[in-house]
Amino acid sequence: MKSFLFQQATVIPMCGAEDAPRAFTGSVAVEGNRIAWVSADETLAHAFLQTHPDCRVVDCRGKVVMPGLINTHCHAAMTLQRSHADDIALMEWLNDYIWPFEAKQTADEIALGMTLGIVEMLLGGVTSFVDMYFQEHRCVEVVERLGIRALLGCSYFDHSIEIALADARKTQEAAASCSRIGAAIAPHAPYTVSEENLVRGKRFAEEHGLPLMIHAAETQDEMRYVREKYGCTPVQLLDRLGLLDERTIAAHCVWVDAEDRRTLAERGVTVSHNVQSNMKISSGAAPVAAMVAEGVTVTLATDGPCSNNDLDMWEEMRSAAFLQKLSTANPLVLPAYEVLKMATANGARAMGAAEGELGVLRAGALADLIVIDLQKPHLQPVHDVVSNLVYCGKASDVETVMVDGRLVVENRQIAGLDLADLYCRVQAAADRIKQA
Ligand SMILES: [Zn+2]
Repeated sequence: MKSFLFQQATVIPMCGAEDAPRAFTGSVAVEGNRIAWVSADETLAHAFLQTHPDCRVVDCRGKVVMPGLINTHCHAAMTLQRSHADDIALMEWLNDYIWPFEAKQTADEIALGMTLGIVEMLLGGVTSFVDMYFQEHRCVEVVERLGIRALLGCSYFDHSIEIALADARKTQEAAASCSRIGAAIAPHAPYTVSEENLVRGKRFAEEHGLPLMIHAAETQDEMRYVREKYGCTPVQLLDRLGLLDERTIAAHCVWVDAEDRRTLAERGVTVSHNVQSNMKISSGAAPVAAMVAEGVTVTLATDGPCSNNDLDMWEEMRSAAFLQKLSTANPLVLPAYEVLKMATANGARAMGAAEGELGVLRAGALADLIVIDLQKPHLQPVHDVVSNLVYCGKASDVETVMVDGRLVVENRQIAGLDLADLYCRVQAAADRIKQA
């Protein structure tokens, strides 16, 4: 079994008691795909080296070791459409640009877009992501090869439900031998999928033991549409149809009133907050501080790379804190540590992990961690390392990334991948689709 010792790091475990220090100097030991222990006790490190002579030691002086980031809602293959259609209102953007582009993509091109998306996320310290798209079964091989952890949500509208259910079955089958990959079912939204097909998706998810993800309460247009058609809010509609429970990830939840928030908390729904997408599309400012205070599990996400336009979780963390402080006129809400928790320990809930199994550094947890180099002008001096990371950190500060006990990024390099060649193929695919 392979073992690693990340030594003399500034460790941020994200699972300490409320009154425990958020960071300490210590080491993290990894055995196989699990964390063996996390400790400030140097004698433990010496003993580990004695019992594990083949252990790989990573010198982490001047560096942070923390759980990898978890992006709980994205459409990774949409990297192909990055900056293809900007500064346009949502419905025109979908109808005139995004959906016509998507209709012309081949499955191979989707897998290529997914490759670029995963590369961007890994290099930015994302170790798990939740995807929502088409042809997910064709992306299993990409996820497996690049070493990231993923929940692949097979998305549908009314006209494409059969294709999505088949995609979900194939994704589940293709991912059966890889513990890092799971399938999910993903009806697009309450305004694009009928009641009947929302329920059908949920039944399918239950029959196959899959989580369900959906866009919900994203824009005022959606609120109006659902109110006129069903006489209620999107959250109330989904609840009435039985779609909301602890296996549901609801992306956006920008327009949720007190009753909606109570429902989300009571049903144990995981909310995915996509702050930069909400800002860019002018969707609004989600009541995140209220949701957190009321016991809703809120996580962070980038959404697709054409409503953002990147897959950078560091920007999401900073924007989430700043926008919430602005929109509530209260600088005390969403402190840095709470935001970091949303991007790590809370995010693990979306991945379906048991409490303490993912998104934290503790003995027995899955070994998904990142090393961040603090020797940068924007990260010095260090008064509060958590504040430095959330308010000043950049994706490019991530030096090393481990997923499932395997080093997938070392010194900002992904082994065995020719990036120049990847960029060429991505540009060629984007050009072909646009001209088709
Ligand atoms: Zn989305």
